[in-house]
Amino acid sequence: MRIGQGYDVHRLTEGRKLILGGVDIPYEKGLAGHSDADVLIHAVMDALLGAAALGDIGKLFPDTDPAYEGISSMLLLAEVGKRLDEEGFVIENIDATVIAQRPKLAPYRETMRENIARALCIDISQVSVKATTEEGLGFTGSGEGISSSAITLLTTAGDNCYYDRMQAYETGCPGCQGCSQDRDV
Ligand code: MG
Repeated sequence: MRIGQGYDVHRLTEGRKLILGGVDIPYEKGLAGHSDADVLIHAVMDALLGAAALGDIGKLFPDTDPAYEGISSMLLLAEVGKRLDEEGFVIENIDATVIAQRPKLAPYRETMRENIARALCIDISQVSVKATTEEGLGFTGSGEGISSSAITLLTTAGDNCYYDRMQAYETGCPGCQGCSQDRDV
């Protein structure tokens, strides 16, 4: 079982779309960044990569690479999900918080959850998205930027296997075709 946390901040600026959790939210400003600057998805990706000890999004998707200019962060999230799958990790849950003074995010939360769940091929019940303000304090309170944090729990298939873990480590598991017992259990 592995836990991971992620945190990200982007500056609010005029002339950009505000994309949060893959939702295009009507607002007078948007988040500045190399990609679509979806700060919520960036925090979620870093939590997932952190739990798997696979680095961070700066390493996987460098902001100096033109391939990622303006890219939807949902595509990057799907790529992170694929990487975790290749490494034998199973996502148990994700709990994320967006910290923004404005706009009100409650109307978009369910769509954000759906988008994250779809990109990672998990159930919406495994994804929590919360929103809060910082009571007018700091850079989020003044509307200079939006931050987001996320935590996640990963398991490996071996965490849930009935078969003797040490034996599975040496020989693989005969009772299940669907996991990777001969990897890191
Ligand atoms: Mg970012």
